[in-house]
Amino acid sequence: MLTIHSGYDLTAFNTLAMPAKAQFFTELNDLSDLPELLDFIVQHDLATLWIGGGSNLVLADEVPGCVVHILTKGIELISDSKESVLVKVAAGENWHDLVTHCLENERFGLENLALIPGSVGASPVQNIGAYGVEVADLIDRVEVFDTFSNSFVVMGNADCQFAYRDSLFKRNPGRFIITSVIFKLSKQFEAKCSYAALQGWLDAQGIKELSAQAIFDAVVAVRQSKLPNPELLPNAGSFFKNPVVSNECFESLRQTYPEMPNYPDAAGIKLAAGWLIDQCGWKGHYRERVGVHKDQALVLVNHAGGSRSDIDELSNDIKQSVFDRFSVQLEQEPIAYP
Ligand code: FAD
Ligand code: NAP
Repeated sequence: MLTIHSGYDLTAFNTLAMPAKAQFFTELNDLSDLPELLDFIVQHDLATLWIGGGSNLVLADEVPGCVVHILTKGIELISDSKESVLVKVAAGENWHDLVTHCLENERFGLENLALIPGSVGASPVQNIGAYGVEVADLIDRVEVFDTFSNSFVVMGNADCQFAYRDSLFKRNPGRFIITSVIFKLSKQFEAKCSYAALQGWLDAQGIKELSAQAIFDAVVAVRQSKLPNPELLPNAGSFFKNPVVSNECFESLRQTYPEMPNYPDAAGIKLAAGWLIDQCGWKGHYRERVGVHKDQALVLVNHAGGSRSDIDELSNDIKQSVFDRFSVQLEQEPIAYP
């Protein structure tokens, strides 16, 4: 049974705590309500925003159309072979709870992605990634409702066009409703700890045996020590993607900034956006309502009821100063809506 609210306050539904008001808002707990919901949307000719935890959104003060909070639940083992399992997970499941569930059931692969806020349904949208693992590495297929063809479609991994913090879903906002994600997880654990922060934590604890639990614990501990909790200090995680520049561009930058962090990438050289922003003096920058986190230059925070215009202004000022100094264009990672 659907309840549709109008003029609904979304402050608690986005981790940046933007004081946005939705024209219409509803919760989708059961896919059997989808036809009724789609009828309402079509009848009123509404744009629609499908949301999970609201942890990758920058909302405007007024959100026209219908905001749908997806809350469908279910984790199902659908295939079990000697080496791997396929696990089908409903879009409304909490991401970190899924990571924990898989660890407890010895289904490996998700450990490095522990403690990322939000829902399972959003995980393919920006191909969530952390500590050298992307969710695309673990997705077998995604079940969606395609509002263009008006039908349920199963999209294989390649169909999703996953890229660095990007996918077909992110490039076509509103078109696909992700209903379930099918993960291919391994029965054999393989540690991935190429990121210095993880290895540093493991070394500091004297941990030599790299179990899945040890990697999970390391990720949780490092994240808790470095990242602001949105419940205490509203934020949307990293506000900018790490820019990837050509080898030529990097060589020229390196002449002036030999210490610049850099990582080889399929498309060129990946730079650390946080380092570029920090070099421009933004870390800890404080404005009346919004600012830059004191320890993480990549994280913009809303400390006193700031709205979209406050965040946009700060974000534009940061982008401009990074461009003026390094000739590198930063791209916003969270999705601005509308
Ligand atoms: P929402 O913010 O609700 O939505 C994000 C986008 O996905 C929107 O475009 C929305 O329309 C779309 N969407 C959501 N659900 C569906 C669905 N079922 N069908 C179709 N479209 C849908 N991201 C990383 O990649 N790595 C990190 O390490 C990371 N760390 C973070 C740390 C913090 C403290 C915070 C606040 C954010 C972090 N993020 C990170 C960003 C964010 O948590 C992820 O992008 C997450 O996947 C967003 O999930 P959500 O449910 O909150 O999505
Ligand atoms: P970090 O470890 O301080 O590293 C800074 C940046 O350098 C990261 O953005 C990372 O790129 C890159 N990097 C570090 N070691 C690398 C390696 N061995 N190979 C390739 N790239 C490397 O980063 P952090 O800010 O504390 O974040 C830790 C991880 O969590 C990162 O993977 C980050 O993406 C993820 N995270 C994401 C968000 C978000 O909202 N998107 C928020 C918090 C943390 P990558 O970002 O490409 O990994």
